[in-house]
Amino acid sequence: MKIKTKGRCVKCKELCAIPQAEQHILNCSLKSSTPTQQESGHLVLIAWTFQPHMYWMFVTLPKTASLSLLDAFLRMEWLECCGHLSRFTIGDKGYMSQTECGNPSQCMKKQIGQLLPYGSICDYVYDMGSSTRLTIKNITEIPFCSQKKVEILVQNEPPKFSCEFCKKEPDNICAICGETVCSSCSSQHSCVVDEGDDYVLLPLVNSPRTGVCGYTGR
Ligand SMILES: [Zn+2]
Ligand SMILES: [Zn+2]
Ligand SMILES: [Zn+2]
Ligand SMILES: [Zn+2]
Repeated sequence: MKIKTKGRCVKCKELCAIPQAEQHILNCSLKSSTPTQQESGHLVLIAWTFQPHMYWMFVTLPKTASLSLLDAFLRMEWLECCGHLSRFTIGDKGYMSQTECGNPSQCMKKQIGQLLPYGSICDYVYDMGSSTRLTIKNITEIPFCSQKKVEILVQNEPPKFSCEFCKKEPDNICAICGETVCSSCSSQHSCVVDEGDDYVLLPLVNSPRTGVCGYTGR
């Protein structure tokens, strides 16, 4: 089932879908920018590769942002469960988060602006086992961009799920089958019954990694 979500603009709180978001951001950031933020940066769309209209966000990156800055942001915001490897793939080249001996790799020190021209996309994967894949598009240069950090401008609202039994809003997702259940019904879920334990249930959170590995949210 394809799910589309709307996103809320952090600055003005307006709701918009992906096709309108880019124009909205450019208008909105011009209106709200302050003269102290004079430097430009990159406007980037990050989306879950499996369902790009479900989990997504528009962010700005400082002009000289490295892959490792974006990697750290993605882990903090959406992905980190237990320190898995990650990799950007740009064209036919891969950029890993760690070397084979486990040290942070030099690869991710490279600047995004030099690798990913405006209008082009790259792939990102977190965890080579139970992978979460993202598609990242460097859309355009944006004026008045924070040079200190990755800044979220618009992020998807949580997709609507319902409890498989009572149809109310669920707060758990099953790590085995992906079904969603509320706390009152969770003991009836078939995987919980089979396992004789509810450790298979994880908190349902607004991230493409919800229900995967041990992910419990940021
Ligand atoms: Zn806005
Ligand atoms: Zn994990
Ligand atoms: Zn329920
Ligand atoms: Zn299940």
